[in-house]
Amino acid sequence: MKALIALLLLFACMGNIAARDNILKLKQGESMCILLDDSIATHYFLDASLSGISLPIIRYHNHFYVLLVADFQKKTGKYSLVVRNGRDTLLREAVIVEKHIFERKILGIPYEFNGVFPTSTDSVNKASLLQTIAIHFFSQLWQGGFSQPFEDMRIISPFGKERIYTNTVSYHSGVDLAADSGSVVHAIGDGVVRWAKPTALYAEGLTVAIDHGGGILSLYLHLSRICVKEGTLVARGQVIGEVGSTGHSSGPHLHLMIKVGKARVDPMQFMRVLTP
Ligand SMILES: [Zn+2]
Repeated sequence: MKALIALLLLFACMGNIAARDNILKLKQGESMCILLDDSIATHYFLDASLSGISLPIIRYHNHFYVLLVADFQKKTGKYSLVVRNGRDTLLREAVIVEKHIFERKILGIPYEFNGVFPTSTDSVNKASLLQTIAIHFFSQLWQGGFSQPFEDMRIISPFGKERIYTNTVSYHSGVDLAADSGSVVHAIGDGVVRWAKPTALYAEGLTVAIDHGGGILSLYLHLSRICVKEGTLVARGQVIGEVGSTGHSSGPHLHLMIKVGKARVDPMQFMRVLTP
């Protein structure tokens, strides 16, 4: 067992280098690739988890990695990364999830959405979206990596931003990217379209959700137009819709969200980690 661990080459890809002798550290909302040596990667029934929460094992640039992620609100502290083949533990490593200081804005006003409240149909539609995206393809559907939804990426509201109202606190689980209304939006990776309903959701507006397999999901909100159909395969870079301001939005922009399992991660950092 010790010999196996000694054989393991453990480091992270793309800017998140973690030396083998160091404890792995990542911040809330971050993603990191942990390379699996062939002695581990060649097993058939591999599964990875972080203190019991399943993590994807991905094939990226001809190597196998565990995609280590932390939800942006994950409790900070020490966790255990475990890779198993059936009942055999092949790797056990400590992981420290560190605090990420996100932008914070204190607004001395109550939260309201133009005085329009959601109807029961809005609630049913939202529940339907959540139910749909909770199920995903087990197998990896993407190849090569993930790229930007459009070329000129200007952040107008960062990931994780906290807005403190007098009656509630809201947390930004995606990133807002500036774009003119009608600008085309490209799929960030290969996958299957899981949600592309023509009805705008109360807060999210016209939304596309792409299942990339293994628990990786990308969501594109506030669109003015959708160009893909549910159940169809899309390739990285394919046009899936156009930027708009539908739902709870104060102007044309794209709200891009990436989930890995239940973890909501920073889309900008995720795309840097898994660049094509
Ligand atoms: Zn947003």
